[in-house]
Amino acid sequence: MKNVLLIGLGRFGRHAAMKLHDLKHQVMAVDIDEEKVNEVLPYVTSGVIGDGTSEQFIQSLGVRNFDLCIVAIGDNFQSSLETTALLKENGAKFVVSRASRDVHRKFLLHNGADSVVYPEKQMASWTAVRYTADHVFDYIQLTDDFSIYETSVPNEWIGRTIVDLRVRQQHQINILAVKYMGKLEPMPAADHVFRKGETIFVMGSNKSLSRFLKA
Ligand code: ATP
Repeated sequence: MKNVLLIGLGRFGRHAAMKLHDLKHQVMAVDIDEEKVNEVLPYVTSGVIGDGTSEQFIQSLGVRNFDLCIVAIGDNFQSSLETTALLKENGAKFVVSRASRDVHRKFLLHNGADSVVYPEKQMASWTAVRYTADHVFDYIQLTDDFSIYETSVPNEWIGRTIVDLRVRQQHQINILAVKYMGKLEPMPAADHVFRKGETIFVMGSNKSLSRFLKA
C-alpha cells in the first residue's frame, strides 16, 4: 500500500482516485474547487481544498510523507508547473505530472517532475495502433523499437505446439503468456498446444511483430 498525494480532481484526477482506491492505496486528494473534492470523497482517505501553487499550502501537507505525488492539473499549465516545482522543493519523493502538450513535458521534467504522463498523446497512439491492426486486442510500447501485443492465435497454429512451430526462429518473437476463457497462463511451456479461441501475448521488435501480424 502506498501513500499518494493527488492534486487536481478533474476527469483525469477522478479516474486516478478511483483506480488508486481499487488498488487499496491511501490517497489524499486536493483541489482548489470544493465541489471537485466532495465528488471524490467516497474513493479517498482524505480530501483537502487548497491551491497547489501556494507555498504555504504545500508546506502544510507534509509532502515528504507521501510515496508518490501526482499533479493531475492539465489545462492550466502555469498551475501545473508551479505545483510540480513546489512539491519537489518541499521534499516530495516522486512527482508524476500530467502534460497536455509536448512542450509541457520538457518544462515539467526540468522543474521537478520525476516522470510525466501525457494521456491524450499516449491514448491517441494506442488507439491508432490497436484499431488499425487486425486481431490485436491490446498493446504496450516498451521502447521506440520493442512492444508487446495481445493478439488472437493464428488459425494454422491451432493444435500445434510452440516447439513444433519454432515460433522464435520463424518469427523472431517470444510468447510471454496465453489467455484462454479469460484466464491468463503466463510463460507457456514449449509443448503448449494452441487452442481455438486463445489469445497470445507476444514480445518482439516492432519490425518482427508487424511482419508476424500481417502474416
Ligand atoms: P480534466 O481534463 O482532468 O477534466 P479539466 O480540463 O477539467 O481537467 P484542468 O484545468 O486540467 O481542468 O484542472 C484539473 C483540476 O485541477 C480541476 O478540478 C481544477 O479545479 C484543479 N486545479 C486547477 N488549478 C489548481 C490549483 N492551483 N490547485 C489545485 N487544484 C487545481
